[in-house]
Amino acid sequence: MNKTEHLLTCLIEECAEVQKEAAKALRFGLSDHAPDTPKVTNADAIAAECVDLAAIIEMLEEEGIIPALKSPEGMRLKKDKVMKYMKYAANRGSLETL
Ligand SMILES: [Mg+2]
Repeated sequence: MNKTEHLLTCLIEECAEVQKEAAKALRFGLSDHAPDTPKVTNADAIAAECVDLAAIIEMLEEEGIIPALKSPEGMRLKKDKVMKYMKYAANRGSLETL
C-alpha cells in the first residue's frame, strides 16, 4: 500500500464513522449518548467525526491527491441542491416540515 492508498483508506473509514454516528443519532436522538460517555452526545460525536473527515480531506488536498474543494461557489451550489430536494420531498409528503 502506498501513501495515496493509505489516505484513501482513511477517507473511506472516516466516511463510515460519520455514517455510523448519524445513524445512531437517527435511532436514539441527537442529544442521546453512549452509556460509557455521558458527556459526549450523538451530535458531538457527529461533529467530531466530521472534523476527522475534514482533516483527511485536507491531507488529500495537501498531497495533491484530490483537487482543493474549498470553493464557496461549490458549497453554495450543493446547499441550493439540497434545499431544492427538501422542497420536493415536502411536496411529496415524505418530509414533515421545512
Ligand atoms: Mg474518526
